[in-house]
Amino acid sequence: MGTIIDGKRISDNLKEEMKAQVVALERQYGRRPGLAVIIVGENPASQVYVRNKVRAAEFVGLRSVQVTLPESTPEADLLAQIRRLNEDPAIDGVLVQLPLPAHINEEKVIDTIALEKDVDGFHPGNVGALWLGKPCTLPCTPKGCLHLIQTTGIELRGALAVVIGRSNIVGKPMAKLLLDQHATVIMAHSRTRNLGELTRQADIIVAAVGKRNLVTADMVKPGAVVIDVGMNRDDEGHLCGDVDFAGVKEVAGFVTPVPGGVGPMTITMLIQNTLDSFIKRESKKQ
Ligand code: NAD
Repeated sequence: MGTIIDGKRISDNLKEEMKAQVVALERQYGRRPGLAVIIVGENPASQVYVRNKVRAAEFVGLRSVQVTLPESTPEADLLAQIRRLNEDPAIDGVLVQLPLPAHINEEKVIDTIALEKDVDGFHPGNVGALWLGKPCTLPCTPKGCLHLIQTTGIELRGALAVVIGRSNIVGKPMAKLLLDQHATVIMAHSRTRNLGELTRQADIIVAAVGKRNLVTADMVKPGAVVIDVGMNRDDEGHLCGDVDFAGVKEVAGFVTPVPGGVGPMTITMLIQNTLDSFIKRESKKQ
């Protein structure tokens, strides 16, 4: 049986370290890092994500601001709120929870967040910098996945990684991060033929699709590292990933559970990005 990668424990340890770091930062700079989270509407999943982000921010001692706007909020009002937070010197990170109501242009919203406060790493300035190999803020989910992969001690240089899913927030940046570690990366997606033939060769599989039981034991090479980003519900309504966890854990060398794998790491990376943004902003003042 493979080792279960305990994302919850790893992220709890990181949060404890960051809690101590926040105390030191406040002593050094006279203020705490600030994170603002904006939520528009009442999407229940978004409400849970925002609650968890705010809770984690408060746990590590950040100054945490939550802006809750009604579903009917005009786009211009949301943009005005973002600009206000962009200007607020006590705020180092501005995050708008996605998805947004249909009448709001998501692209415009992301573009409006100040590049230096884009702790989600979704701004075109950060995405461009990532692909050019320049310093940037990394998107939280793939950053957390890479961290989990690295805890296994696997040699990434020359390893074959198959990333399933090509979204802007997970699949594409994940592939780039693995490429930067000198892995050979295959990006699989909805039109990929013979997915199993590809994954069976992989040393690392990252599944980021949103389809239950997409990755089964027969698709995994013995000893491989399997990272499950998916968030789905099973027939009983329980949270589950894209990977058939029960089957795959018998074959894989390492596998992340859902819940308790990638999810907590995503939130912890958001806090880390906020601390980094704070440090960058404060050092500029010196
Ligand atoms: P998305 O819907 O934007 O992208 C899904 C991708 O999967 C697409 O690129 C599509 O080509 C690919 N795909 C669809 N069907 C496929 C198939 N049969 N075979 C191979 N590829 C297929 O989704 P996303 O935003 O990248 O999220 C993916 C999943 O990860 C969702 O379940 C989401 O809830 C979850 N997620 C989890 C976290 C976390 O922190 N745990 C963060 C972000 C997303």
